[in-house]
Amino acid sequence: MSATRVSNPDLTTTTQTQPQTQYVFFFGAGKAEGNGKMKDELGGKGAGLAEMTNAGLPVPPGFTIQTTACREYMKTGKVADLLERQTRSALEQLEKLQGQKLGSGENPMLVSVRSGAKFSMPGMMDTILNLGLNDESVQALARKSGNDRFAYDSYRRLIQMFGSVVMDIPKAAFEEVFDGQKKKRGVKLDTELTAADLKDVIAQYKEVVRKHAARDFPQNPTDQLTQARDAVFRSWNNDRAKVYRRINNISDDLGTAVNVQCMVFGNLGETSGTGVGFTRNPATGDKEFYGEFLMNAQGEDVVAGIRTPIHISELKKVMPQVYDQLREITTRLEKHYRDVQDFEFTIQEGRLYMLQTRNGKRTGLAAVRVAIAMVNEGLIKPEEAIFRVEPNQLYDFLVPRLDESSGTVEVIATGLPASPGAAVGQIVFTANDAVTVAGTGAVKNPVVLVRSETTPEDIHGMEVAAGILTARGGMTSHAAVVTRGMGKCCIAGAGDIEVDEKKKEMRVGSLTLRAGDWISLDGTTGRVIKGKLNTVPASADNSELKTLLGWAEPYRTMGVRANADIPRDAIAARSFGAEGIGLCRTEHMFFAEDRIPHMRAMIMARTEADRRAELAKLLPMQRSDFEGIFRAMDGLPVTIRLLDPPLHEFLPKREELMVEIAQLELKDPKSPRLAEAREVLRRVEELHEFNPMLGLRGCRLGIAFPEISEMQARAIFEAAVNVAKDGITVIPEVMIPLIVTVKEMTNQGSIMRQIAEQVFKEKGARVEYLLGTMIELPRACIIADEIAVEAEFFSFGTNDLTQTMYGFSRDDIGTFLPTYIEEGILKSDPFATIDQTGVGYLMELGVARGRKTRPNIKLGICGEHGGDPASVEYCHKIGLTYVSCSPYRVLTARLAAAQAAASEKLKIEGGRTK
Ligand code: PEP
Ligand code: MG
Repeated sequence: MSATRVSNPDLTTTTQTQPQTQYVFFFGAGKAEGNGKMKDELGGKGAGLAEMTNAGLPVPPGFTIQTTACREYMKTGKVADLLERQTRSALEQLEKLQGQKLGSGENPMLVSVRSGAKFSMPGMMDTILNLGLNDESVQALARKSGNDRFAYDSYRRLIQMFGSVVMDIPKAAFEEVFDGQKKKRGVKLDTELTAADLKDVIAQYKEVVRKHAARDFPQNPTDQLTQARDAVFRSWNNDRAKVYRRINNISDDLGTAVNVQCMVFGNLGETSGTGVGFTRNPATGDKEFYGEFLMNAQGEDVVAGIRTPIHISELKKVMPQVYDQLREITTRLEKHYRDVQDFEFTIQEGRLYMLQTRNGKRTGLAAVRVAIAMVNEGLIKPEEAIFRVEPNQLYDFLVPRLDESSGTVEVIATGLPASPGAAVGQIVFTANDAVTVAGTGAVKNPVVLVRSETTPEDIHGMEVAAGILTARGGMTSHAAVVTRGMGKCCIAGAGDIEVDEKKKEMRVGSLTLRAGDWISLDGTTGRVIKGKLNTVPASADNSELKTLLGWAEPYRTMGVRANADIPRDAIAARSFGAEGIGLCRTEHMFFAEDRIPHMRAMIMARTEADRRAELAKLLPMQRSDFEGIFRAMDGLPVTIRLLDPPLHEFLPKREELMVEIAQLELKDPKSPRLAEAREVLRRVEELHEFNPMLGLRGCRLGIAFPEISEMQARAIFEAAVNVAKDGITVIPEVMIPLIVTVKEMTNQGSIMRQIAEQVFKEKGARVEYLLGTMIELPRACIIADEIAVEAEFFSFGTNDLTQTMYGFSRDDIGTFLPTYIEEGILKSDPFATIDQTGVGYLMELGVARGRKTRPNIKLGICGEHGGDPASVEYCHKIGLTYVSCSPYRVLTARLAAAQAAASEKLKIEGGRTK
C-alpha cells in the first residue's frame, strides 16, 4: 500500500493531478508524519519510532523511507527521482531541526541507516551506523566530543560496516587488520587500542576497501547515504533474510523500510551506554522488567553477543534517574500497545533516548501467561487473548524434558536458559556441519550447534539443529531471540565454555569435547550436560493452557482428531484433547520387530491357503492393537484404515539380499539360509515396482488379495465387540484407502459388511460402524458424488492428493524443493501447507459433490496438513467436519480451528496472516 500526502512542498508544486507516492515520512520534535498503525509502509521499526515520537518520548529525529521504495528497487534496480527529492528535503528538514549538517562543519550530523520490515527479522538485514563521518568530520567529532579515541573508533566502525554491507567486502578482511593491530600493540581488548592505533587501522581499512572494491571509501556524506540506503534495500534479499522468511512464513514481496535517524552515542564514556529489554520476561512471561545493557558501548554490541551484557536491574545502581525514566516510558509503551514491548535504548552522556519499540517475541509458555495476565490486568479482553498465541507455539507445552534417570547427569557448565525445552545431540561447531550431519531426510540426526555466539549467517544450521549452545551473549542475543521464535531449546552465554571453532572442539576446564560427541541441554534451567540423556515428553496438564483454551474452544466448530496407530499414541492424543482417531494406519502395526516375520511369511506365501494360514497368525496381534485403541478412545470415533503400502516394503532390500547370497555362496554354499535367501530374493524381484507409490497399494492390495481385507475386518469387528462387552463405547469407522472408482469401494465395502455380519453372529452381539473412504487422488474428488453413494464418510488424504496433483514424489521432493523455494517458484512446501489454489480446488469440489449425494456426510482430513495452522484455517473455511493430525499437533490444531472460527465470528483478523 502506498500512502499519499499533499503537505510536502515538493509534491504540491507538481502539475500532476494524481496524488503522488509519499516515500519519506519524517519524525522529530514531538511530531511524526507516520504512526504506529503504518507497519505495512514504515515497517515495525519505523511505525514504532513514529508512534513514540508522537507520544512525546525522547526519540532521536529522522525519517523513514517506506517499503514501496524497496519493492520498486527490487523490481527495477533503481529508485524514483521523486524519492531522491523527498529524501533531500527530509534531510534538509532534519539538518534544520538539529542545527547541523550531515557529515560537515564543526558539529557534524551523523545518522544511522537501518532496515525495518513489517515483521521483525532480527539481525537478518543490514544496518550502518555513524554515517556522515569522513576524514574531515572525524576531526570535528573528535574536537566536539573531546574524545579522539571515540571519534576514530566510530569512523573505523563506519568503514567496516559500510565496506561489508555496501561494498560486499568480506568481514574477515577487516577483522584481520583489526586483530593484527591488537597483536602488534600486544593488547587483548578492543578498548585497549588508542586513538593513534585506530588512525592506523583506518588507513589500513581504506587500503582494504581499495583492494577489494577497486574504489575508495566515499568521503561525500550524501553519497554514503544513497549507497547505504540501496544496500539496505538489497539486504532484503540476502540469503539469511530469505531463509528467515521461509522459516517464519513471511512473504518475499513485502520489502523493507529504511530508517535514517540521528545518531546518539552509547560509547561516549562511562555516562553513556546502550541496552535492550522487554517489559516482561519473554521466556517465562513473568511480569518483571527484563533486559540487558552495557556501559560505554555502541549499537549492536549488546545483541551481537560479543560482550556479555549486564542485567538491567543494575542500571538502577549505575544511573537511578535514567532507570526510573526508562521504566516509566516502557510501562507507558506497554499500556499503549497493550502488549509486551521489546525496546532498545541508548544513554548519551546521562540522557536517555528510545531507539525502538515493538511487540516482543516470546516463547509459547510466555505467550499464554502474558495473554492471561493482560486479561486479568484489564488490558485486553479474553477474545483478544486467544489471538495472542500462535497455534504452533502451543508445541512449547509439549517440548521434551530431560529424563534424568536415563544416565549420569554430569553438569559441565551453566548458561542462561534462553529458550526452554531439552535437546540431546551430537556436537557440531558450524552451521554447515549442522546441515551435513543432521542430513536431509525427514528425520534429522540430532545435532547441537555449539558456537561462541551465533550470527544471522548461522540461520540454516540453527534451523536443523535440535538445540543451540553459545558461550557468549545474553538473553537478547541473536541465538536467544531466534531460537525462541523457532520454539527450539537454547542455552546462551555459558561463559565457562571455550569454543574453538577452528579445531572443532569445546573446552570446559580440563574437559575437551569434540565434534561428534554427545551433549544434552536443559534449556529450562540452562544446564549443559555431558553425554546422551533420553528425553521425556511433557504433558498438556497446565492450568494456564487450560484457561486460554477455555476462552478459545467455545468458538471452535470443527472437530480435532489425531492420527495414531498404537494405543500409547492414542492415549497421549486424548490427553491433548483429541476428539477421536482420524487415521489409524494399520500397516504401522506390522512393522514391529515381532510381527514383520509373520508379515513376510504371508507375503512369501504362494497359495491362498498358505497366505490365510499366515494371516491367521497376524489376526490376534492386530485384534489386540485395535482393542487397546478402542479402550483408549472410549466414547470417541476411531477411524481404521485398511492396509495401504506396497508389500515389498515389508521385505528385505534387494541389494542386501544379493550381498548375503554372494557371501553365503562363497563361505557356506550348503547353508539352508542360502536357499531361503534365494527364495526371498525371487519374491522381492517379483514384487519389485518401478513406481511403488503408484503401484500395488491402497485398496488395490485388498482387491488383489481379499483375504488380507478379510483378516483386517475380522480383527476390527472382533476387537470392537470384545471391548464393547466390557462396557466400553466403541465407534469404529472403517476406511478404504486410495479409491479411484466407486467399484473399488463396493468391492471392499462388501467384504467389510460380510465379515462384520459373520462376527456379530458368532459373538451374538453387534456394534454400529461407518464405512468410508480416503479421498486422496484427483479422480476421487471429481467422482465424489458417485463414491458418496457407497461411502458414509470421506477423509481427505492430502499427502497423496498433493503428490498426485503436482506430480511431485512426496519422498523425493527434497532434491529440488530447496531450489524451488530459493527461486521463488514455490512459496512453501506444498506437503506442509495446503496449496489452496490447486489441491484446495479439488478438495472443495470433493466436498460439494460428496454433500450433493449425502448432505450430512462426515468430512475430515488426515494428511499432514491437518496440524498446520494455515491449512487448518482453510479446512474450517471449506466446511470440513474435523481435522486429524499427529498427537503432538493436536493442541495447535485446536487453537488454530478456534481462532479460525473466532475471527470469522468476531470479524478479527487472525494472527497468522503474514
Ligand atoms: C494421505 O495420503 O494424506 C494419507 C493420510 O495417507 P498416507 O500418508 O498414509 O499415504
Ligand atoms: Mg495416502
